[in-house]
Amino acid sequence: MSDLVVIIQCQLAHNRCSGFACSHSFYERQGAFVDYPEGTRYLSFTCGGCCGKGVAAKLEHLAGKLRKKTELKPDNVVIHLASCMTTDNHHYDRCPHVDYIRSIVAKKGFTRVVEGSFVSASATELRSRGVYRDYQQSTSRD
Ligand code: SF4
Repeated sequence: MSDLVVIIQCQLAHNRCSGFACSHSFYERQGAFVDYPEGTRYLSFTCGGCCGKGVAAKLEHLAGKLRKKTELKPDNVVIHLASCMTTDNHHYDRCPHVDYIRSIVAKKGFTRVVEGSFVSASATELRSRGVYRDYQQSTSRD
């Protein structure tokens, strides 16, 4: 069964971002999405705002819809915590609540979590030069 990719964006970033770069990266299989086979589906929503507590209700809603409307189980879902949440970039630093949000995702039974989505070439270059701070990223897709 094909996976469902769920991108969770930073609400603060989303206030000024349409999410185009992330969805384009997914459909072009770029950035954090290079390995997904054709047929993989995609959904995105925001964390709901600081402190990320709203993720719980959204994931509960998602889990309910998956149960009622699809054959997908939580193991078929890969949660991508979007780059706007997990990296340092021009507009925002890494979200200070990432670990809390990850704990909610785990509590709701979703074990496949990836940090990152769209990868900006210019931000990557600035990170390599130390202009933006780099962070240790952890990934558990499989
Ligand atoms: S909790 Fe984190 S990801 Fe969500 S709005 Fe606040 S800073 Fe952004």
